[in-house]
Amino acid sequence: MGTALITHADCLDHLTPEGHPEQVARLDHVLHGLQGLDLLRLAAPRCEDRDILRAHPQRYLDRLVAEVPGSGLHRLDEDTWLSPRSMEAARRAVGAAVRAVDAVMAGEARNAFCATRPPGHHAEAETPMGFCLFGNAAIAAKHALDRHGLDRVAVVDFDVHHGNGTQALLWDEPRALLISSQQYPLWPGTGAAAERGGHDNVLNIPLPPGSGGAEMRAAYAEQALPRLAAFEPELIIISAGFDAHADDPLAELNWTEQDFRWITQQLCRAAQGSARGRVVSVLEGGYDLRALADSARAHVQELIEAGR
Ligand SMILES: [Zn+2]
Repeated sequence: MGTALITHADCLDHLTPEGHPEQVARLDHVLHGLQGLDLLRLAAPRCEDRDILRAHPQRYLDRLVAEVPGSGLHRLDEDTWLSPRSMEAARRAVGAAVRAVDAVMAGEARNAFCATRPPGHHAEAETPMGFCLFGNAAIAAKHALDRHGLDRVAVVDFDVHHGNGTQALLWDEPRALLISSQQYPLWPGTGAAAERGGHDNVLNIPLPPGSGGAEMRAAYAEQALPRLAAFEPELIIISAGFDAHADDPLAELNWTEQDFRWITQQLCRAAQGSARGRVVSVLEGGYDLRALADSARAHVQELIEAGR
């Protein structure tokens, strides 16, 4: 069935200040890195309000729309910005995640990668945060549960930062299992093992600064993969951040492209059986442009391998 790549040029129109790590060039590098791969290329649709409203209240959407500047940049917090076309980018990022769920549920593709920005895993119900406006991965999970009637959806977040937004949005959702590994301690400060969700439906895996692929692989083999197998997900959504790479400027983990390859293989394997191979991967962080492009390529190559 193959692997879908879902993206849209509008995602290049979300601007941030000069020198900001979450920059337009990230998406250019990711897409350049995916050139030549055997992918079903789909345009990300502009999402509907109802997609956003699965995770955020109307007043939050209204507030963001109202704060979009007519020109220049508007600062939402110390890290998070709006430019005149940010909502178009954000709606394509949500739309890609929703479209990816529809594609794998319909059998149009076995799995899918959403090359979009802004990222989403730090956005809480009413709080933009950490470069994120809407909870793309959490919205995809809720869409799969509510629109497709699935009973069990797993979200695995291997971005180096804790997916505090996804955690908040899925905290009270017993049909979702969130597994999040992160450097700990690190911004945003959450993600301790004691945070377990409202229904014991969250597994946080803190990884110490300076640790590398060996520690990550052991933690996934001992904790994440058994938990995932026991949950028997019908769909796995990956929050694919590549900022645990050794070259990333924002954190101190030492993963390599081979580690992203390994974790992708393991998650695709976990999706065989109960999830029939269905995996939706959504781009989150990754701020060294070269490491980001190489890691995303390795990740998508493994999706393609698993999706054949
Ligand atoms: Zn991150």
